[in-house]
Amino acid sequence: MKKRSGYVWHERYGWHDTGRGVTFLPWGDYLQPHEHVESADSKRRFADLVAVSGLRDELVEIRPRLASEAELLRFHTPAYLERLRTASLGGGGDAGELTPFGHGGYDTARLSAGACIELLEAVWQGRVDNGYALNRPPGHHAEADKGKGFCLLANGVLAIKHLQALHGARRVAVVDWDVHHGNSAQGAFYGESSVLTISIHQDRNFPPDSGHLHENGSGAGLGCNLNIPLPAGSGHEAYLLAFDRVVLPALARYRPEIIVVHSGFDASVNDPLGRMMLHSDSYRAMTQRLMAAADTLCAGKLAMFHEGGYSAAYVPFCGLAVLEELAGVRTAAADPFLPFYRDYPGQLLLPHQQAVIEQAAALVERIPTTH
Ligand SMILES: [Zn+2]
Repeated sequence: MKKRSGYVWHERYGWHDTGRGVTFLPWGDYLQPHEHVESADSKRRFADLVAVSGLRDELVEIRPRLASEAELLRFHTPAYLERLRTASLGGGGDAGELTPFGHGGYDTARLSAGACIELLEAVWQGRVDNGYALNRPPGHHAEADKGKGFCLLANGVLAIKHLQALHGARRVAVVDWDVHHGNSAQGAFYGESSVLTISIHQDRNFPPDSGHLHENGSGAGLGCNLNIPLPAGSGHEAYLLAFDRVVLPALARYRPEIIVVHSGFDASVNDPLGRMMLHSDSYRAMTQRLMAAADTLCAGKLAMFHEGGYSAAYVPFCGLAVLEELAGVRTAAADPFLPFYRDYPGQLLLPHQQAVIEQAAALVERIPTTH
């Protein structure tokens, strides 16, 4: 069924400059200068495929804006923002850990956070049924006082705090399917029951020693943080079982008013920074499940924010599959890689993957139902 699906993209996202690097490291010593893996390519090509496929004509354009300093201060420290602002006026620098940015990077990051604020508000208010912000730089690793893992500002956290402050949101659920742990939302809401945070990621990839099963929330938020650290090599069946056994039961128990997805495509089989096996039909199936849950629980309210994904060739097709599902429109741009990736043997569920999923499933009953 066709939906009113919101979509954010801005040309300036392509201008965020991570400089020269060697995959995720700065160059130097014996590391010959090469390309930084977080370049504009995967996002711009995703946006181009959305346009060329004709899907963009079916979407409701939502314009991003610069997040204000007051909005950023809901999570970030004044000292961190001042450091970003000053460096951005010059040649840029590193926002913290492995987070290079160039001249003007602070404003591009504010435009990225502003995309998530605008989209989440549009979905909350029912101006669109659901939506996808194709924003850059990403946000799900950023901490209050420093950037981390290519993320300058905590886009998703800032958007949720905006919804809480201005619209009285009391129960927000976050599902992070980026291959890396969603430490930003986990850290921001760890002691609160007003946000349920669920991260499904590759076990101990990035950040190091983060995203364990036992990180389950604290105080009033005890039970409201779920991690599903899947073993490297997990594929289509493992991810869908994790949804059926953990993500969907957790959402049903929590009863969110709106569902936010931190959407990275670096769990795809083609990604240089992940060791997972997903293809476009996996992302399509996960989107279908979340849409069905949102229909049942919160009038379909579902907002997705772009995170990682570093295969410039394959991110566009995984992303298009998600947007097609959100909009209820199939284009003629079928995934040409799918016949290859779908039949890889690693797509089948393996016992050690199932064991982790069952451990995570046992945590669902710890989610408080009275909040
Ligand atoms: Zn990632």
